[in-house]
Amino acid sequence: MLRRALQPGLSRGVLGRGLGTHRGRSTLGKVEGSGGYRGSWVAPVSSYVTFRTRDPTHDGKTVGRLGEGDQNGKVSEIKKKIQSVLPRGAWNPLRDTSYLPPEHSDVVIVGGGVIGLSVAYWLKRLEKPQGAIRVLVVERDHTYSQASTALSVGGIRQQFSVPENIQLSLFSEYLAVVDDPPLDIQFNPSGYLLLASEKGAAVMESSVKVQRQEGAKVCLMSPEQLRNKFPWINTEGVALASYGMEHEGWFDPWCLLQGLRRKVQSMGVLFCHGEVTRFVSSSSHTETTSGEEVTLRRIHEVHVKMDRSLEYQPVECALVINAAGAWSGQIAELAGVGKGPPGTLQGTQLPVELRKRYVYLWHCPQGPGLETPFVIDASGAYFRREGLGNNYLGGCSPTEEEEPDPGNLEVDHDFFQDKVWPPLAQRVPAFETLKVRSAWAGYYDYNTFDQNGVVGPHPLVVNMYFATGFSGHGLQQAPAVGRAVAEMVLDGHFRTINLSPFLFNRFYLGEKVQEHNII
Ligand SMILES: Cc1cc2nc3c(=O)[nH]c(=O)nc-3n(C[C@H](O)[C@H](O)[C@H](O)COP(=O)(O)OP(=O)(O)OC[C@H]3O[C@@H](n4cnc5c(N)ncnc54)[C@H](O)[C@@H]3O)c2cc1C
Repeated sequence: MLRRALQPGLSRGVLGRGLGTHRGRSTLGKVEGSGGYRGSWVAPVSSYVTFRTRDPTHDGKTVGRLGEGDQNGKVSEIKKKIQSVLPRGAWNPLRDTSYLPPEHSDVVIVGGGVIGLSVAYWLKRLEKPQGAIRVLVVERDHTYSQASTALSVGGIRQQFSVPENIQLSLFSEYLAVVDDPPLDIQFNPSGYLLLASEKGAAVMESSVKVQRQEGAKVCLMSPEQLRNKFPWINTEGVALASYGMEHEGWFDPWCLLQGLRRKVQSMGVLFCHGEVTRFVSSSSHTETTSGEEVTLRRIHEVHVKMDRSLEYQPVECALVINAAGAWSGQIAELAGVGKGPPGTLQGTQLPVELRKRYVYLWHCPQGPGLETPFVIDASGAYFRREGLGNNYLGGCSPTEEEEPDPGNLEVDHDFFQDKVWPPLAQRVPAFETLKVRSAWAGYYDYNTFDQNGVVGPHPLVVNMYFATGFSGHGLQQAPAVGRAVAEMVLDGHFRTINLSPFLFNRFYLGEKVQEHNII
């Protein structure tokens, strides 16, 4: 429990009570955030007019207030003397502590990607009264170099088969709430075009029925209608197509992420650059209705390992949101989730893991051009336009057998040659002449159980809430998921969209959310 920012010899009490801080830090100067308890900086000794010190050259006698007597020159003489006898740089008892997390926060959100930020946003927006809840977002990588949000392709569609997924994506309020004035997230309303083979046509038809019932504007197209609208498509092997006419397309995930970050900061959400490494919890024992003996846990403290330091900082909390994306399975494990005999509720793990996905960017002057929607071929390969310079990006999820090693984010270029290019060139003959310009890989927050989100509290680690496992469609669902989690935290139930089918319990009960349109 060592606060490394304090120099040896200075107790926390000195900083805390002596300088009137919230939670043991000087509030002499504030940095980020709007709350008074937010990080503070401490200026160099010589800039404090009220600082008292001892003059080592005067045998321990206290000297007057520095700065007060500057005019008569005497005090500045003394200052000079002090500075001359002190080893340079060593006399620096107060240091910048703004990077430390607060000692307590009502809610600690693990992960500062789009999901964590959305939860933070909605907690602050729905809290009553304003300022009632202290929310801390802990993010270990502020460059987001491996975060799914930053590496995704930004697609938004309503063309799912499960009503809840359609509702989640229809919840478009986020485009307006992100900032004031609304943030430009470079939305391209070009629609999604899904293609079905003979085998998939019936499912497509029934999915579109559900989409329309939920209020999405989607039309079905025969191969002939498809050829008329998009003459660059080869309709061989296509039995049916569905095309979204409203609120579908893609946007820039980075703009959304940064906009949300700025917004929640302005609302008083605290940020900490560090890694959550441990939870301290208390436990009690009880029995489920089916007679299973279980241990209930409540997290009291989150340990945050600070960047480039071996020390951790403890943060007391009432509630933890697991929004660690592809790493949320590891965070759940840290909290004790799944530690029990297999087949029991206690032994049920959070089935979310890293799955590597490649995205390739190619140039093709003869390509479909500006009218290109986000196309998902019946083969599973997808592409969309990228910018206005005849560039396109796309990819394809590997089969279970082809799953690449998620140990790094290196790109497999053969995968494009063997798995992505052939179906795309067959569908869009102009792509025969494409030239790959760049590529990257990112992680899906992959839910191995049913590839759908996990939202809401854990039944046994009672104050850990999940917002994870979206497996390739989390970006577009983030606004609605953030709201749903905030409602669950503040009201104890979902209000806007009933996401009960996405609760953790389904893993134990074996109740899959059967979504047909997973990419
Ligand atoms: C190639 C690709 C394409 C995609 N395309 C789309 C798309 O078109 N449409 C769509 O809706 N979705 C898409 N997705 C999915 C979408 O990007 C994710 O579902 C979504 O971004 C998940 O957001 P998140 O905040 O949960 O995760 P992330 O953005 O990964 O954020 C989680 C954060 O948690 C942090 N973290 C992890 N462990 C710790 C810890 N111990 N302590 C502190 N911090 C921690 C990580 O550093 C990370 O920044 C795509 C994903 C990929 C990879």
